[in-house]
Amino acid sequence: MLDSSIPAYVDTRKAFLQEAKISGKVSLERMPRFQSCLISTSGSVNIELSFDVSETKQRIISGTLRAEVKVACQRCLEPLEITLTDDIRLALLKDEAEAEGLETELDPWFCEDYKLDVAPLIEEQLILCMPNVNYHQSGECAERKNYIAGQESAGSDAQSAHSESPFSILKSLKKNDLSD
Ligand SMILES: [Zn+2]
Repeated sequence: MLDSSIPAYVDTRKAFLQEAKISGKVSLERMPRFQSCLISTSGSVNIELSFDVSETKQRIISGTLRAEVKVACQRCLEPLEITLTDDIRLALLKDEAEAEGLETELDPWFCEDYKLDVAPLIEEQLILCMPNVNYHQSGECAERKNYIAGQESAGSDAQSAHSESPFSILKSLKKNDLSD
């Protein structure tokens, strides 16, 4: 079940009546705003959503999301894999007027009719939990690696003038070891 795509639309009349649960993948192509934050179209977004009616007759959509995507590292601009996870807890409302008496811990999500488009809902949550800045861990940036590699190759040319020195040092160290 987890590998299947979730349907494009959920019929909210049915979903809340049956207290439905859905799980599966949401393709990145269905979330163009979120995709524009990414450096690659390869990645996955898995979600689990439950549709429940609370004691106060509030329609609640709750669940979790987990996204594994690639963004650009803001230090070296090379791809960086990040995992986003978040809990979802939304009240499904028809319009602004309905939001008046909403319990404060619930964020509203508006859906005028009974056809709920799931992708924009997930997209909004993903954008909200996206870190402001993304960096490779220290020392893992491509720029830094290239810089060190470049320095080494330049250095080997310069060293060829007195090429024996590193080895002679090694030899002398070995001799010292043997003489012990
Ligand atoms: Zn980096």
